[in-house]
Amino acid sequence: MDRLQMITPLVEMDGDEMTRILWADIKEILLTPYIDLKTVYYDLGLKHRDETDDQVTVDSALAAKQYGVAVKCATITPNAQRVEEYGLKQMWKSPNGTIRAMMDGTVFRTPILVKGVRPTVRTWEKPITIARHAYGDIYRNTEMTVPGKGKAELVFTGEDGTEQRKTIFDFKGPGILQGIHNLDSSISSFARACFNYALDIRQDLWFSAKDTISKTYDHHFKDIFQEIFDSEYKDKFENGGISYFYTLIDDAVARIIRSKGGMIWACKNYDGDVMSDMIATAFGSLAMMTSVLVSPDGKYEYEAAHGTVTRHYYRYLKGEETSTNPVATIFAWTGALRKRGEIDDLNDLCAFADRLEKAVIGTIESGIMTGDLASIYEGESCAVTSRAFLRAVRERLENG
Ligand code: NAP
Ligand code: MG
Repeated sequence: MDRLQMITPLVEMDGDEMTRILWADIKEILLTPYIDLKTVYYDLGLKHRDETDDQVTVDSALAAKQYGVAVKCATITPNAQRVEEYGLKQMWKSPNGTIRAMMDGTVFRTPILVKGVRPTVRTWEKPITIARHAYGDIYRNTEMTVPGKGKAELVFTGEDGTEQRKTIFDFKGPGILQGIHNLDSSISSFARACFNYALDIRQDLWFSAKDTISKTYDHHFKDIFQEIFDSEYKDKFENGGISYFYTLIDDAVARIIRSKGGMIWACKNYDGDVMSDMIATAFGSLAMMTSVLVSPDGKYEYEAAHGTVTRHYYRYLKGEETSTNPVATIFAWTGALRKRGEIDDLNDLCAFADRLEKAVIGTIESGIMTGDLASIYEGESCAVTSRAFLRAVRERLENG
């Protein structure tokens, strides 16, 4: 059989532990038999990051910006225990953080739905995508404890020496204090990434904040979104048959729970952190959550939302065949291949991505799945190992 040809390579970012094993298996069983896979390969495995003083992470992000579409395996974010385990030169930063900062990107997370794994929320029929702003607010805060009586002030000193000053609070006794910030450039990038993504997948975009209480800070987010929407996206949204609206975060929460799903919900940094875990869990499983980083100039990096599944890897090292769910990692590949196909006008590549996703969902709906899903599946199910699952998907891909 002739394998599908590609024009531009994908940027391939390999990773760690159990997901690194799945990565190779997915390529061997589901991709290379059908596609003459062209990739520019970067090994972001922790050992190689250490050997290259993390230069490989920077290089891979530069390549993603150059080629436009990347696919990434989960990677270890080192902590003290990992520094010891791997004998690291230093506690390298999170690769995802580095790549996100270099691409100035926004992360969109979407659950994969299958019949038999019912969302906890009865009304949800379609996936809900969370877009999380990934800069500033409490993640870059300055905070202190206040020992006792005294005045706290907010002071900004301009480059020319002019000063703005406001009283935060006249403390009569001990308490706490925090300062946060954000940037017009970052909020604008976030807004554009959200508008572009909504057009791309043709879904309504919601944005929520708390401008009734935070009349300057949150209101500024709302204003930037509205200005960019009105001047750059209004017509495109109308032509695409989709809408944008802003609402208060508490109203958004209530409406999301009553909705059928099928929208993108843009959240400020903290709201997105919290709500994405709520959405993932309520849809069934973290192992079924996809994630894509989109830069404001339309570069894409696809990955699974889960980590390297360390506990399974230690069992694998003891010689056990594990039942680790490869679905989100397969969907990272199909997402990247489809996007590459769209950009390079390769309809066959897009069609292959669609067929592979259908085969994955069909396999699960036929009752064959990994252990994590079998435990929440409503119906007859057969829990199999990761490789057995991949082979079942391949059989369905070939025989329908
Ligand atoms: P994790 O790898 O997501 O795994 C946590 C637990 O969730 C697993 O032990 C497993 O539960 C279940 N799980 C997650 N994905 C699964 C899958 N595909 N199939 C079946 N079960 C799955 O999170 P973690 O253990 O907190 O982190 C492990 C490493 O991953 C850390 O070094 C962390 O830095 C890294 N990490 C990387 C990324 C990324 O690269 N995007 C994201 C998060 C974490 P059971 O053991 O109960 O089966
Ligand atoms: Mg979180």
